[in-house]
Amino acid sequence: MKVTKSLHDKPTFVYSINGKALNTPKEMTLTNLQIIEKFVRSVAATSREDNSEPAFAIIATHCDKSKFKRFFGLKETIREKNKTLQSCLNEFLDLFIFYNRDSNELIFPVDNFCKWDREKISADICHRLLSDIRGNINIPVRWYVFDLNLKNEASKETHGMISLESCYSIGQRLEMDQGEVNECLIYLDSMRLCIYYPTVLPQVVFTNPQFLIDCLSNIACVSFIDNLTEIGINLSWEDLNLLKRDGVFDESLLDNLQLNLVPGLFSKGDLLSLMQHFLVISTIKTADKSRYFIPILLPAERLNEEQKALFAQVADPLFIQFDKTVLQGLFPTLVVSLLSREEEPLFFIDSRTSDFPQQLRHAVKLYTEELFGSVLLCENVESIEIYFTGRSRHCDRLRKVVLEALSISAKVLQYDEKKLNMSAVVRCNRKHNVPANDKMIHPITISYKNDPPEIGCSIETSLPTIIINDLSEKQSCWLIGAAGTHSETISLPTNGNEIL
Ligand SMILES: [Zn+2]
Repeated sequence: MKVTKSLHDKPTFVYSINGKALNTPKEMTLTNLQIIEKFVRSVAATSREDNSEPAFAIIATHCDKSKFKRFFGLKETIREKNKTLQSCLNEFLDLFIFYNRDSNELIFPVDNFCKWDREKISADICHRLLSDIRGNINIPVRWYVFDLNLKNEASKETHGMISLESCYSIGQRLEMDQGEVNECLIYLDSMRLCIYYPTVLPQVVFTNPQFLIDCLSNIACVSFIDNLTEIGINLSWEDLNLLKRDGVFDESLLDNLQLNLVPGLFSKGDLLSLMQHFLVISTIKTADKSRYFIPILLPAERLNEEQKALFAQVADPLFIQFDKTVLQGLFPTLVVSLLSREEEPLFFIDSRTSDFPQQLRHAVKLYTEELFGSVLLCENVESIEIYFTGRSRHCDRLRKVVLEALSISAKVLQYDEKKLNMSAVVRCNRKHNVPANDKMIHPITISYKNDPPEIGCSIETSLPTIIINDLSEKQSCWLIGAAGTHSETISLPTNGNEIL
């Protein structure tokens, strides 16, 4: 973080290679504070088999004395930044390695570009990081030696990849049979000591994630660059249009990216399988060739309230709320999860209508034949909204399908579902006693202690409850089928099937 920027500013995004800017500078949709918060909450919500805890550090650059003095006294000092960050990340303070409890400082300041004492500063940071690693990895001695041999062998081969066959040979030398090698690889993967996907890519083990990261970042850069020919990508006008407007590509894009794949170990098909497995892409089968939908490559834009309202004629939106923020990756994964369904209702991407000419990163329109209507999914900073244009009697089925897809998405992203603290109800439209609450978007609460269920407000709990029949038809349609569950707010059950 640059100390000269406010936490409440939206940073400008410029994508450059070797100092050459490849896009028109663009203001990001989130503020610096929202970006930090989203990242910390997302990492903290991941489930960890090794019981370790994540560690965070916020380093502020550009703190060298002369500049620092100039900025001191401006609208947001480093002390104010510390205070804001502290209150926003209050429940995670113990996970910050530079958190100073006595002075209440979270930020580790370094000077402008670290020109002086560069080595000393980086040694300091490394020392703090290393002395702060928590969690103990328990590993049998033989498996430990296997892991060392694996890394040693892989470093000689391409991109830190090693074939399963070579793993078996290493195992043999250590008197481990194939069954034990398989078991060991799965354990090492769960301890994050290697990367192994036995169900998708059983033939290869990655000892270094960099190669996979490079593949994905090469693909991701496509969405940032204005003129793709500048990085050697030559697509036909039709393909380019499909990519920019609908987020759809075919294999020719990967061929253009020159990804340095290794046939036999990790091919183009393997990369596509991996992206499908992690719900990054969904396959669109056409007669002649396969195409793929990739929502993360769409333009990073949202719809405004008027644009959304066009889709709220039949039903008010279903309002899916989380603890403070929508965690990283959950929205695009939800979209791909819906598109990847193999049972009815099936979903298809639905663009090119006058009310929705282009798919966006934060707003995707799908169509479902079985429910006979369009489904618009919108990502806000703190919630996801689902709009439906079909008949209102299908809303409650759609709600169950969306919850199921969210449950699958959370699993794929390795989020601990309990930590998501999700509710899927409608917005509270009550007239509040505290007028400020009328403007604040928040969900209703439902209690099933009585029949018909009682509806309350999630922020002004002193408001008298109403019954579900008092809600408008545009709201109650989402909740009719939910009446079988008995919880205060309808939240995602631990087992995704319970609610169905
Ligand atoms: Zn309310």
